[in-house]
This record gives sequence, structure tokens and C-alpha cells, in this order.
Amino acid sequence: MAKHFISDIVEADLAEGKHARIQTRFPPEPNGYLHIGHAKSICLNFGLAEQYGGACNLRFDDTNPTKEEDEYVQAIKRDVAWLGFDWQEREYYASDYFEQLYEWAERLVEKGKAFVCDLTAEQVREHRGSLTEPGRESPYRDRSVAENLDLLRRMRAGEFPDGARTLRAKIDMASGNLNLRDPVMYRILHARHHRTGDAWSIYPMYDWAHGQSDSIERITHSICTLEFEDHRPLYDWFVAELGIFPPRQIEFARLNISHTVMSKRKLLRLVEEGHVSGWDDPRLPTIAGLRRRGYPPAAIRDFCDRIGVTKQESTVEFALLEHCVREELNRVALRRMAVLDPLKVTLVDWPEGKSEELEAVNNPEDPSAGTRTVRFGRELWIERDDFLEDPPKKFFRLAPGREVRLRWGYVVRCDEVVKNAAGEVIELRCTHDAATRGGGTPDGRKVKGTIHWVNAADAVDAEVRLYDHLFDREDPEAVEAGADFLSALNPASLEVRTGCKLEPALAAATPGERVQFERIGYFVADETDHAPGRPVFNRTATLRDTWARVQRQQGAE
Ligand code: ATP
Ligand code: MG
Repeated sequence: MAKHFISDIVEADLAEGKHARIQTRFPPEPNGYLHIGHAKSICLNFGLAEQYGGACNLRFDDTNPTKEEDEYVQAIKRDVAWLGFDWQEREYYASDYFEQLYEWAERLVEKGKAFVCDLTAEQVREHRGSLTEPGRESPYRDRSVAENLDLLRRMRAGEFPDGARTLRAKIDMASGNLNLRDPVMYRILHARHHRTGDAWSIYPMYDWAHGQSDSIERITHSICTLEFEDHRPLYDWFVAELGIFPPRQIEFARLNISHTVMSKRKLLRLVEEGHVSGWDDPRLPTIAGLRRRGYPPAAIRDFCDRIGVTKQESTVEFALLEHCVREELNRVALRRMAVLDPLKVTLVDWPEGKSEELEAVNNPEDPSAGTRTVRFGRELWIERDDFLEDPPKKFFRLAPGREVRLRWGYVVRCDEVVKNAAGEVIELRCTHDAATRGGGTPDGRKVKGTIHWVNAADAVDAEVRLYDHLFDREDPEAVEAGADFLSALNPASLEVRTGCKLEPALAAATPGERVQFERIGYFVADETDHAPGRPVFNRTATLRDTWARVQRQQGAE
């Protein structure tokens, strides 16, 4: 794993003997599916633990019952495991700490460090002041310890309606840091929690739960994104007042990627309003979507390693993620032949009913992947755009009177073009050169082009889904003032092709299996809709590596 400022801190702490072993955690809130930004945090937290012989917990920060669901908990566990990380028995929930947190709240009340406040949410906001103006103290701030304790217990007992009161820390309404202006610790909320049911009618605020949850789990390095930098003094204050284990919080810049959105709120909208087929739509940057798109977990881990960990906000090109995917798939994906826009070729000099078995290499990058046989016969499918009736000079594929090599097969020549009444080309009548079996030209004549094909007699019909960026523009959030990010949706982000022709080996693909369709791109058998006898493939990526090309150009300049 690449080194960065956080691994430097961990190494220094270990060298100084501050900790015998490190403890990290990945703390998702189960209010949505994980996305590629979370993958960065997962790789960082689990990666550090792996690298330095520590452990990483999976902790659900489930403090907000109105937005959280068990469906999300299950999806998150599946995604973390799929990415290749193991939390073993360390699956924790902030809701398991509700009792401990409540006890600590009473302790702060007893110390005179917390009070029950009757201001409404609106009034609390008004009293808060701004970055330039100090806040005003709540008129309830000086309640006696006894009165505070009594009210807090009655809040817990469910005596008051939602929003009637809050428990607030008593810190400093004049602090330059707004987070220290008597922040709310508990709110009254008569809501059912996905784990604790109706046991609670008060729920801890994230800021009151998060730091102490880390402390309970004795997290040595509590790694989070930059927006929590200003919350750190508050977490430190709670820990110091309670005299409990002090985790060290370290902030890093969150990952942003071009051509997509990463906010859970926006992803939820895309799903709920039906702009995509679900949380696992292959166009979404969710882990479930990337999996269904065919991205290998190793490629995502490689990407997270390459982008590095810093404190500078930046946006990473989607093309870099695709580059990592191509590199991995180039190594491991078996090559297969598929025709997505079929045009019929008949070899008029090939006897009816005769077929031959040809040997085809499974992966030129990996000799251990071996070979397979493909059947070759009189009728074949080729890609419609591999033929041009009136070709320009540099077109080396098929055209009237011209020759082309059929991959693993023979050199063929187009002798006749058959059209329908509308004038569309519907068939090419060709002849083959029997001396060119396997692709060679014994007489040494030049045949520049090689195209892929599928044997018509045993071709398998398939549905193929061609995915592209979900958004047209690099930064969908930066649409014109007043416009919605949805206005940047790419209307051509999905093209469904039916009647595609596949070589028969592909019919046996298992859902989730990744392959390269020669000359076209990387594809995956859809994990949900692909079935024996009804193949459905998703395009993972084209073969054009725009990121590598730009790097080469920049290197050449
Ligand atoms: P929200 O809190 O608004 O619901 P979130 O994206 O912060 O959304 P969490 O479930 O709180 O979601 O995130 C879990 C962990 O993942 C946090 O530690 C968070 O800092 C980290 N994380 C979230 N988004 C990114 C990102 N884009 N890049 C890196 N880390 C991220
Ligand atoms: Mg968060």
C-alpha cells in the first residue's frame, strides 16, 4: 500500500510505543448504500490495520432511527466483504452503546456540564450566533443539577412530545467554534429504531455518539473526512470531561469523482424517483452498482491506493477508475467473440452442413488461461460496421472485392453485396481462402484487417446493455443556478441491444463472470438478469483507455 501522511502518523505512534497495536474502524451510517467514496475510507481503515498488524471494526453509526434501515445494514456488510475486507467478529452498533451514552450524559449533568433546554430547534438556532457574532446563552442554562436530572429522566421515560426539550452540553456560547456553543446531545424522538425498537424516546446526536463510540472501542486512530475537523475540539471536550479513552482523530479529504454524484441524498433521489433501476444500477457509483457493472474489487482497491490520501480537496477523473478496471480485466478476463450489431456473411464456397473446429486463445496476456475451440461454418455473423460499401482509403476491414482475416479462422473476400428493397445491406456473399486456416497467408500477401465473427449455426442470442456516464458533464453539481443536478443526466447513458450474437461458450457464463468481447470491450454477465438460456451482459468498459492516452500525451509534451 502507498504511504501517506496518515500511515506516517501511525508509524510514528507505534515507534514511540504509544500503542502496542492500532485499532481503526469504518463507521457507516446505515441510511443508504455505500459508494466509491466510502471505498476509499474502507481501504484506508482496513488497509492500515492490515499493514500494521492491527484490527479494524465495522461500526454502524445508527443514531438516527428515521432514516436508517436494516436493508442498508445488510447491503453495507455485503459490500465491505465483497471489497475484500474482513471485520471478523467485530461488528458493532452505536445503538448498542445507547445505555452507556445515557449514563455518561447523567454524569455530565451531575458535574454541571450539561443541562435540559426548553428552547425549540428554531430558537436554539437563533441563539447560536454566527461566525462573526457570539451566541446567546439559553435562559434554561442555569437550572439546578437536580432539576436537570429529573427532566432528563422524564425525557427518557417518554413524558414529553418530540422536540419539546433537548439535553445540551454547557460549554461556551462565545466560542469561535460554533460546535462548542452548547451543542445538543439528546433530542426527543418517539420513533422506532431498527435495532432497539421502542426502547428509547430520546436519541443521541451524532456528535454526542461518535467520539464516545470510538472511545468505547478503544479506537487508536479515528480517521474521518475533513468536515469533522471543526468537531474534533468537541469530541476531545467530551472525552476529557468523562475521563475516558482518548482516540486520535485524523481528517483527510473526501474523494470526488467526475461525471457522477456522491451525496447520499442525491443518490437516494436518483433511486426513489426512478432515474435509475435501483441502488445497484450499473451507472451509479455505489459499490453495488460498480459490482453489477463488472468492476473487479481488486481494481477498486488499486484505484483507492493510487489516488492517495491527502488533506487537499480535489476531483479525480472517472477515467482513472476505468483505467484501473481495464488493467485488471486485461490481466484476468477471458477473450470471447460477440457481435453486437450483426450482419450476415455467407461463404458460398463452403459446403452446406460442413463445420470445422478452430483453436482460439483465451487470454494472450495469460498463457495459463489456455485455448478453446470455436466452430466455423458456412454462415457467420460479423459486426455491421466492419463492412463499408464505399470505404475510405484507410479502411482495412471488409468491402466489396476486398479481403479481411476472420480471427482464428480464414481470410475471406467479399464478392457480392445483397440488399433488401429499402436498399439496406442484409448479407455479404464471400469466398474463403482454404490455405489461410488459422489466419496466416502462406503466399505472403498482405491482409491488414482482422475482424471478429460468430458462427451462425451455434450462435447464442443475447441482450447486451451498453452503459455510459450517468451525467453528461464533469461536475453535475455545478449546473446553472436554479437548475437541478438532474438536468445534467445523460439521456444516452443506457442503450439496450437485443439480438446480439455470442459464441456458445458465453451461454455458460455464470452471473457476475467478466469477459472481454474481442475488439469491443469488457463485459459482465448480469448478476440479476443473466440466466442459462437467456444471456444478459453489461458493458463494463470500452477498450479505449482515455486516461492512459492523456498520460502518454502529457508525457510526450
Ligand atoms: P452522511 O453522513 O451525509 O449520511 P456520508 O457519506 O458521510 O453521508 P457515512 O455513512 O457517514 O456517510 O460515511 C461513512 C464513512 O465514510 C465516514 O467515515 C465518512 O467520512 C467516509 N466517507 C463518506 N464519503 C466519503 C468520500 N467521498 N470519500 C472518502 N470517505 C468518505
Ligand atoms: Mg457521515
